Amino acid sequence: MSSDDPSPTVTAPGEAAMASARDGNGAALIRLTDLTKIYRVGAERVHALRGITLDIQTNEYVAIMGASGSGKSTLMNILGCLDILTAGSYHLRGADVSKLSQSKLARIRGQQIGFVFQSFELLPRTTALKNVQLPLAYTHARHRRKRAWAALERVNLLDRAHHHPNQLSGGQKQRVAIARALAQEPDIILADEPTGNLDSVTGAEIMDVFDSLHAEGQTIIIVTHEEHIAARCKRVIKLHDGLVALDQPTGNGERP
Ligand code: ADP
Ligand code: MG
Repeated sequence: MSSDDPSPTVTAPGEAAMASARDGNGAALIRLTDLTKIYRVGAERVHALRGITLDIQTNEYVAIMGASGSGKSTLMNILGCLDILTAGSYHLRGADVSKLSQSKLARIRGQQIGFVFQSFELLPRTTALKNVQLPLAYTHARHRRKRAWAALERVNLLDRAHHHPNQLSGGQKQRVAIARALAQEPDIILADEPTGNLDSVTGAEIMDVFDSLHAEGQTIIIVTHEEHIAARCKRVIKLHDGLVALDQPTGNGERP
């Protein structure tokens, strides 16, 4: 559009929804500005992220893709406050994460971030229910049980609550892991290749769970290698060599 275009300024569809998805203080849920991560290995420096700038709003459903080594896990670890950035900035709900103390970061991890991993990371000799209660160590016992049961219900696994991980299928284990993430009522779920150890039918079932959580308002960010998994999300961000190579809607659920 040229600057002398006479058409009146109109709000693009979706813009109002984007604005209302922002927090009351006007900040994006996640704002990355020129985010850089350099690992030092002996005398060597590995540039894992070279300057990532993007916003993610509440209730977005994002797939992060890219070749092995492109920086996906590094990005997830920083988003999840598991690792610190080298340069640039990360604002979470308007707060500059790089300025927070270790104990504040741990609190954010505990209260705002739910992690789901490729290899489930469940405690083996512990029931599904107890696994889901683990992140709630500091919650009152009565609320702990209630929240754990509610989380198992959301992933449709009430009938497996007293099973141990070795009595569960891969898909059921991942549903326990999702319930564990949900139990803390996180602002964001970060899932690093959550379907990577599952066959395609089971992977699709796990995506059904994420779809319904997204429909309930949950913010979800999923790393995946698989196009058909990414296509289930609403937005795809592709990394290449530590930079954003592509960032666009997937077209899923959009009206023609
Ligand atoms: P992806 O998840 O996309 O496969 P990663 O984020 O794991 O990529 O890695 C990005 C780059 O950073 C790679 O070159 C990798 O070797 C390097 N890297 C990742 N973690 C570390 C680490 N802890 N120490 C040193 N280099 C690392
Ligand atoms: Mg990775």
